[in-house]
Amino acid sequence: MQQFFQHLQKVALIFIISVSALGREPLSPHIHGKAELHIIMDGSQLLVELNSPAMNLLGFEHAIHNSEDQAMVENTRVHLENPNALFIFSGAKCQLKERSVDFSKILKTNEHKHHETHGQDNDPHTHSHKDIEATYLYLCEKPNSLHSARVLLLDIFPNITSLHVQWIIHNQQGTNTLNHKHNDITFR
Ligand SMILES: [Zn+2]
Repeated sequence: MQQFFQHLQKVALIFIISVSALGREPLSPHIHGKAELHIIMDGSQLLVELNSPAMNLLGFEHAIHNSEDQAMVENTRVHLENPNALFIFSGAKCQLKERSVDFSKILKTNEHKHHETHGQDNDPHTHSHKDIEATYLYLCEKPNSLHSARVLLLDIFPNITSLHVQWIIHNQQGTNTLNHKHNDITFR
């Protein structure tokens, strides 16, 4: 796991350098309905990173209040931990090696004590926005055969209406915006 995160840092750095070299913004602001996907092939390793407002994946962004919220988190976690149902990389024979799904921003409990602030702090809408991140590392037998991908994420999470994809594959790079009608990416 340690190696995995070191690898992620390295690939993330490569990605940031590549993106800034193009003059593109590395991350979009938090907008409900929109999400970001990064796809990077480095040698035979394929890294996929999803960053989305929690609203798109859970339907809420507050800390967990009750068992319904908890059930929603578990349901979303099951989907995000099964990337074979979210992404199809055709031709390259890629096998999932590691995955990391980060709900920490949702699971973190509020630090101040609500009980002592009755009167003015009972507005349920005062929470800040929260993101969920998911990272996947694949090993590909035939990395040079990766020419396209199909992204089924928007079928599983219909609250994502626009998915901005940035990719770096075989020293080429590009961007795509996927939606409910268009879920294919061609890497060229
Ligand atoms: Zn939000």
